[in-house]
Amino acid sequence: MSSRIIIVGGGTAGITMAAQLAKSDRDLSIVLIEPSEFHYYQPLYTLVGAGAEKVEKTKRLTKDFIPKGVQWHQGKVKAFAPENNEVILEDDQKMSYDYLIVCPGIQIDWAAIEGLPETLGKNGVCSVYGYQESATTWKILDDFKGGNAIFTAPRTPVKCGGAPQKITYLTDALLREKGIRLSSTVTFATGAKKLFAVKGFAETLEDLVRQRNINTLFNHELIKVDGDKKEATFVIKTFENKQLIRSEKKVMPFDLLHVVPPQSAPDFVKNSALAIREGKGKGWVDVDINTLQHRQFANVFALGDVANLPTGKTGAAVRKQVPIIVRNLFQLIDNQLIDKKNQYDGYSACPILTDYNHVLMAEFTYGYQPNPSVSFMDTTKPSYLMYLAKHYYLPWFYWNRMLKGKG
Ligand SMILES: Cc1cc2nc3c(=O)[nH]c(=O)nc-3n(C[C@H](O)[C@H](O)[C@H](O)COP(=O)(O)OP(=O)(O)OC[C@H]3O[C@@H](n4cnc5c(N)ncnc54)[C@H](O)[C@@H]3O)c2cc1C
Repeated sequence: MSSRIIIVGGGTAGITMAAQLAKSDRDLSIVLIEPSEFHYYQPLYTLVGAGAEKVEKTKRLTKDFIPKGVQWHQGKVKAFAPENNEVILEDDQKMSYDYLIVCPGIQIDWAAIEGLPETLGKNGVCSVYGYQESATTWKILDDFKGGNAIFTAPRTPVKCGGAPQKITYLTDALLREKGIRLSSTVTFATGAKKLFAVKGFAETLEDLVRQRNINTLFNHELIKVDGDKKEATFVIKTFENKQLIRSEKKVMPFDLLHVVPPQSAPDFVKNSALAIREGKGKGWVDVDINTLQHRQFANVFALGDVANLPTGKTGAAVRKQVPIIVRNLFQLIDNQLIDKKNQYDGYSACPILTDYNHVLMAEFTYGYQPNPSVSFMDTTKPSYLMYLAKHYYLPWFYWNRMLKGKG
């Protein structure tokens, strides 16, 4: 009898997973639940925001990427019932499975910043975290005549942790090109404690902000935007031995404000039995960080941005996670024990655009250990070759290879 597999979410992870499963010669019945008519290549959003790429390049029809033999259910899951091996759809219909693969991505909590939804796209306030939003970001950057430019990053995990910095460096380069850098200040205000977690790349970025006179503010969390007054309010938290000892507010005037809002697991995941209920990782899907198998429900796997994995949430990470789940799932179907060898090592990659021609290709594994995939060059320095890979090769690879289960 064929095994019935449900995949929740048909973004980067869901389509790649469906494609690799469909290509196997197994007897599988695969249902992909995905609401969106369109599929988006989000890694280009920063280049769109900086005016170096057209937004239309990031969007294709979902139907053109549904693998042969996979049934697309165009709708949303609203709840999980893993004890009954069922997912519940928006219209309360139940769908049952033998195996479940969970990958509905991450939720962008725009409203967690007071005043942001009302002013986003106006008053110099923008964000590359979305299709329309990234196009509007370019309009705002292009109109900017100089002044106080502030770029924010939250304390929460975000998809592509390097993206808040990419748009900062691209804007710095743009202002130089336009001859208005001297009449501007560029500030990167982050809720994090440091610029970057991976050694080697961190030092390069620290040198870069120093040389390019970009102010850095750490432990600065954006909590409020007043678009009319052009004021951003931050809360600054001071910790000693991981204990919060002081929390103060600071209001900063801006002419341009690029916001990366807090992000979390989608609400329907957070509120489910699949999520971590308390403590570290709360809300994310509770999987083993190597096998990607759920820690309580053995017939459930999760990957991509929604999974509780202590590494960068990127498409590059998804690419390494998919074949791991495919292999583990087949062992499970064959009633074998999951082989603990050669499991997911936390690989992720963040191509940090440092200007319109250079990329710092940060590749790393768990523990933020550097893990370059090329040995013929020093990847801790920004390079033109990596820029070409980021802007041209990787999008081609994504649409033509990865989403088709070919790499
Ligand atoms: C500005 C920006 C820059 C980035 N840069 C890079 C980069 O340079 N390199 C890189 O590798 N990665 C980058 N990323 C990150 C990358 O895009 C994500 O990590 C990747 O898309 C994660 O894949 P995913 O399948 O988990 O989530 P997604 O691709 O976001 O897909 C999730 C899918 O789930 C669906 N879904 C949501 N809710 C439900 C529901 N209730 N029921 C069913 N389906 C649902 C959604 O419609 C969506 O299609 C960037 C992202 C952004 C925003």
